[in-house]
Parts: sequence; structure tokens; C-alpha cells
Amino acid sequence: MDFNLSEQQRMLQRAAREFAARSVRPQAAEIDTSGQFPFDLAKEIGKRGYQGLPYPTQYGGSGAGYLSYALVLEQLCQASMTVGAIMAINTVPQEAIFRFGSEEQKKAFLAPLAQGKLLGSIAFTEAETGSDPQAITTVSKKSGDGYVITGQKQFVALATAANLALVFARGEGKGLNAFIIDTSSKGYNLREPCKTMGLKGLGTSVVYLDDVRVPPKNLLGEEGRGFEILLEAISLGRLGVAVEGVAVAQAALEISIDYAKQRKALGKPIARLPAIQGHLAEMASRIEAGRWLVYRTAFLRDQGRDIKYESSLAKLFASQVAVEVTDRAMQVGGSYGAMTTMPLERLYRDAKMTEIYVGVSEIQRNIIASHLIG
Ligand SMILES: Cc1cc2nc3c(=O)[nH]c(=O)nc-3n(C[C@H](O)[C@H](O)[C@H](O)COP(=O)(O)OP(=O)(O)OC[C@H]3O[C@@H](n4cnc5c(N)ncnc54)[C@H](O)[C@@H]3O)c2cc1C
Repeated sequence: MDFNLSEQQRMLQRAAREFAARSVRPQAAEIDTSGQFPFDLAKEIGKRGYQGLPYPTQYGGSGAGYLSYALVLEQLCQASMTVGAIMAINTVPQEAIFRFGSEEQKKAFLAPLAQGKLLGSIAFTEAETGSDPQAITTVSKKSGDGYVITGQKQFVALATAANLALVFARGEGKGLNAFIIDTSSKGYNLREPCKTMGLKGLGTSVVYLDDVRVPPKNLLGEEGRGFEILLEAISLGRLGVAVEGVAVAQAALEISIDYAKQRKALGKPIARLPAIQGHLAEMASRIEAGRWLVYRTAFLRDQGRDIKYESSLAKLFASQVAVEVTDRAMQVGGSYGAMTTMPLERLYRDAKMTEIYVGVSEIQRNIIASHLIG
């Protein structure tokens, strides 16, 4: 086993860290308080080639691989989890098209997404369910030489900015269909924005599909294989959320260390108190464990391996790390940590989202357990 990063990976990581410190971190608080989608940063991420890191150059990517993707994402999320999440979510439809798309679809849809010319969202969740695909009620019906899609999707991240949406709908036969829908299509309507406690500014919204007409070339994969496509693409989504968890925890640890060195109690910095040192040590050890789980999962994907099991392990663990570490950081920060003018409480709110979105922890446990018991 080689735990060293390549020179190219170290360079990418360094460049992303500098970019995040210079351009992302200064905007993080404003994105959170305004709740406005950061269009400028989304464009900048695309221009820097961060949107297509895992994908081959022939499809608009940079061919740097999944581990490079995780390294860059980690740096962005440390500065602003919302900004990193834009990159992570945009990668989910790309992964679906890369794995299941025809050559034509890869050229037409994957390339502009990977080049950052377009943004893509994924619309699976509905008002009545996020965890149970059997309960999906959005339907796709054959009409003429194409399809008509009717239904409602809930909590669609990037909805206010996305040009394409990967939409899952029940087919007329058994199973789900996956469609790549142009969001400017007639009948594709954004409704209420979703006011979430964390990940603010992610453009999360309710989407109505009011008889949206879709040409056959926008059906991804074969009819009825939508669930398979979802599982494959979502495994990369889970890796992305796991990276977010590690990153938000790392950001909280760094703030805690700085604060503990400055804040005094009993005439000396609180960093000298065993209770505070205990918090810092527990935080660091959990983050390090989460980080290697995440890196290994990305590494396995670079080897062409299926990561459905590993990405669930990584998401379950890293999201717990995020929640526990930000909680300890709030404790180290005392009342100052809890102030809305300080970054810690944003990290605390963002951390909780990692246990919920792209599959709640209970679902990750189900996936892990069924893998274990067969
Ligand atoms: C900020 C944000 C962004 C999001 N972005 C997107 C997006 O881009 N696209 C999209 O499609 N969705 C998105 N979602 C939706 C999200 O992925 C779902 O809400 C999530 O998967 C949980 O689904 P649910 O809310 O319907 O929970 P439910 O399925 O209703 O579950 C509620 C609770 O019941 C329990 N539970 C449910 N089923 C089981 C089970 N089988 N076993 C054990 N316990 C169970 C769990 O405790 C769970 O937390 C987003 C959500 C948020 C908050």
C-alpha cells in the first residue's frame, strides 16, 4: 500500500487550498447569511477544471481521477461546504452519464458539465419519500417518439442554477427510468425554495414537472434501469458527502486550535487544559480516520472498483465525525463559538446536513448490513 500522493495530486491539492483561501473562504459567511447561490464561484470552479476532474479528456474532463476529485473537494469544503457541494452534486449526473450514457450523450451532456459550461442537478426525492424508490410517483409516459414526464421533486440542490437535471421517474412497465432533462424545457418549473438549516445558498428547491416533453435521446441507459443508474451515481454522491464531512470537521478543528491558544482561563491559554487537549485529540483522531476511509474509497474508484459498500461506510462514518467534531468545537469555543457572527455555528449546521442528504445514516447502515450478511 502506498499512502503517498503523486506530485500531480499534491499540486492540485495546493492550488485548490490557495484558491479556497483566496476566493471561497471570504465569501462563505455571506453565502450562508444571504442564502444566495454563488454563481460567480460556480463559474470559477468550472474554469479551473474542477468540475470534470474524474473524467477522461475526450469527454471534457481533466482525467485526474477520483482521488484528485476528493482532494480538491476537501479544500473547497473546508472554506465553504456549500461551494464544495456545488462541485460534488454536479459530479453525480456526470457519473451517471459516464457509466450509462451512449457516446452521443457523453459528448452532448457530459462534456459541457465536465468543462463547467453547464451545471447539472439530480432529482430523485419526492414529497412523500427520499429513502424508498418504490414510493416514487413521478411518471414517464411514452408519447409520440418521446416521453412526457409528470410529477414533483423535492429538495433539488442546484435547482436555481442547473441547466440539466437527471430526473428519475416511474416507467410504464416495471422499474424507474432516468432522463437528462433540459431545465429550460416547457413544464419544468421551480417552486418554493427549501430553507435548510445548513448548506444555505445551494439553490435547493421544489421542482414541478408539469408534462415535460423529453426526446428519446435524453433517456439514459435502457428503460427500467433507472434504479441501477441511481445506485451507481449516488455512490459517488456519497463519497462527495463523506469528503464534505471530513472537510467541515477539519475546518472546525483548525478554528478550535487557534481559539484554544488565544483564549485564557486560570491565567493561561485554555489549550493547556487537559479537558481542551482531550477534545482536540479526539477531534484529530476521528478526522484522520475519516480522511483515510474517504481517500481509500476514491482510490478504489480510480481502480475501476464498485464503491457502493465503501461509499456508504465512508458517508456513515465521516458524517458522524463531522457532527461530533463540530459539536466538540462548539464546546471549545464556549459562547463565542455559538455566536452567529462566528464561523463555528455555520460548520455545526452544515455538518448535520451530511447525516441527512444523499441518503440518511439509517439507509447507509442498511446498505452496509446487507452487504455484511449477504
Ligand atoms: C440540503 C439538501 C439537499 C438535497 N439535495 C437533494 C438533491 O439534489 N436531489 C434529491 O433527489 N434529493 C436531495 N435531498 C433530499 C435528501 O437526499 C433526502 O431528503 C434524504 O435522502 C432523506 O429522505 P427523506 O427526507 O424523505 O427521509 P425519509 O425517507 O422520510 O426518512 C425519514 C427518517 O425515517 C427513517 N427511515 C426511513 N427509511 C428507513 C429505512 N428503510 N430504514 C431505517 N430507517 C428509515 C430514518 O430515520 C430517516 O431519517 C436534499 C436534502 C437536503 C436537506
